[in-house]
Amino acid sequence: MTTESVAPKTAEAPAETPPKPATDVAATVARLRKTFASGRTRGAEWRKQQLLQLARMMEENEDAIAKALAEDLDRSPAEAFIADVATTLAEAKYAAKRVRRWMRRKYLLLEVPQLPGRGWVEYEPYGTVLIIGAWNYPFYLTLGPAVGAIAAGNAVVLKPSEIAAASSRLMAELVPRYLDRDAIAVVEGDGTVSQELIMQGLDRVMFTGGTEIGRKVYEGAARHLTPVTLELGGKSPQIVFADADLDAATEGVALGIFANQGEVCAAGSRILVARSVYAEFVDRLAVRASSVVLGDPFDSATTMGPLINARQVDRVLRYLKLGHDEGARLVTGGGRPDRGGYFVEPTLFSDAANTMTIAREEIFGPVGTIIPFYDDEQAIQIANDSSYALAATLWTTDLSRAHTLARRVRAGAVAVNGWSPLDPRLSWGGSKLSGQGRELGLAGLEANTELKTITVVL
Ligand code: NDP
Repeated sequence: MTTESVAPKTAEAPAETPPKPATDVAATVARLRKTFASGRTRGAEWRKQQLLQLARMMEENEDAIAKALAEDLDRSPAEAFIADVATTLAEAKYAAKRVRRWMRRKYLLLEVPQLPGRGWVEYEPYGTVLIIGAWNYPFYLTLGPAVGAIAAGNAVVLKPSEIAAASSRLMAELVPRYLDRDAIAVVEGDGTVSQELIMQGLDRVMFTGGTEIGRKVYEGAARHLTPVTLELGGKSPQIVFADADLDAATEGVALGIFANQGEVCAAGSRILVARSVYAEFVDRLAVRASSVVLGDPFDSATTMGPLINARQVDRVLRYLKLGHDEGARLVTGGGRPDRGGYFVEPTLFSDAANTMTIAREEIFGPVGTIIPFYDDEQAIQIANDSSYALAATLWTTDLSRAHTLARRVRAGAVAVNGWSPLDPRLSWGGSKLSGQGRELGLAGLEANTELKTITVVL
C-alpha cells in the first residue's frame, strides 16, 4: 500500500515524500508497560492532567491540525475544526471534569446471611491499551478512544492510519510534547505495524476501521485473548415515514448520505421511504442531490469534495455498476464528473430491494439506495435485515412512534429527525458486523477498565 500523500482533489503526488522514522515497537511497548507497572498512570491527578494536556494540544495546534487534514484529505479548516478538533476537545474536557467522580468508590453493606461486611467494585485499568484509528477522521478516531483509556488510568499506544500520513506525522510530533511520553506513545506505520503491536500481547485493543481488517485484528488479539473493542463499518438506514416533515427530511437525509462524500461509518446509505410519499420524496432528494457542488473543499461554493484515493474511487464505481446490473433505477449521478481528482458524483438509486448488493454492503462513498416500505412493521423488518447495526435515523412528526420504533431498530445509535450528535456523555458503537463494545463518556471509561470486587468481612 502506498503511504504517499496524494492530493485527492488533483490526484497528483507531491515531488517527494518525507522518510518515515522506524519505530522499535517492542521497546516502545516495554517502556509503556514499565510506566504502567510503576503505578503512575493510576492516580486521579495524572489522569486529569493528561486529559487537560490533550485538550490543550488540540487547542494550541488547531492550525497545524487543519493543515495536516488539508494535505491528507483536502479538508477545509472549518470542517477540520468541527470533525476532528472540536469533537476530541469536548471529550477530553468532559472526561477531565468527571474523572474523580468516576473513580469514587460506592460502598455496599454485604447482603450475605451471617457474614457482616462491606463490599465495593474497583475500576481497574487494563494496563497498556492499543488504539488503532481509521483515516477518515484521523485525529478524532485515534485520540477520541484515547480519552476513555487515559481516564481509566491506562498507558496507551496510538497507531493512526498511514493513509492520513501528514496527520499521523503531526500526531507523532505533538503527543510527546504535550503528554507523558513514557505512558502515551504514537507508533507510525501501516497495517503490518498494527499487527506487530497486537502480537506484543497488549492488555486491550480499541480498533476503528473496516469490517475486513477488524476481523484480522480480532483474530490476532485472540491469540493472547486480548479483549477488543471494534468500531467498524455500517449500512445504516434512514427511515422516512409518511408523516415526516419532508423539507427537513430531504435536507437531513441528503446530509446523512453525502456528508464527507459518504466516507462516514454512520453514513445513512439505505434510505427507506413510506410508499405513500415515495415518489415525491425521491424527486425531492434528486433535486437536492443535483444541487451538490463538487469541487475543491477550499472553495466556499463547494458542498462535496473528492474521495480519499484511487482505490476508493474504483470501489465506489464497482458498486455503481452493480446497482445498475442488479436492476435498481439510477435517479441521479452514477459516475465520475468530467474533471481531475478523485471525484464521484452524488448518486441515488431508487426502486431498490434490500437484497441488492448496494443495499447490503458498505460502499463508503456518496451513494444512497432508496427502498420503499408499506408500514412501520415492514420498515423495521427491512431496517433490521442487515449484517450491520451501527446507526439509524427516523424521520417522523409522531414522537410516540419515534420512541417505540427507536427501541425496535437494531443499531448502536438511533437519531430522530436529525443525525446522531457525538455528545461525550452518550455512548457510541455498533453490533453485528459493525463491531462490538462502546466508546465515549462513561461507556468509554468502562470499556477500558476491568472490574475488581473487594469485600471486607467485619
Ligand atoms: P481499515 O480497516 O482499512 O484500516 C483501519 C486501521 O487499521 C488503519 O490504521 C490501518 O492502517 C490499520 N490496518 C490495516 N491493515 C491492518 C491489519 N492487517 N491489522 C491491523 N490493522 C490494520 O479502515 P479505513 O482506515 O479504510 O477506514 C474506513 C472504515 O472504517 C470504514 O469501513 C468505516 O465504516 C470504518 N469506520 C468506523 C467507525 C465507527 O465508529 N464505527 C468510524 C470511522 C470509520 P493503515 O491505514 O495505516 O494501513
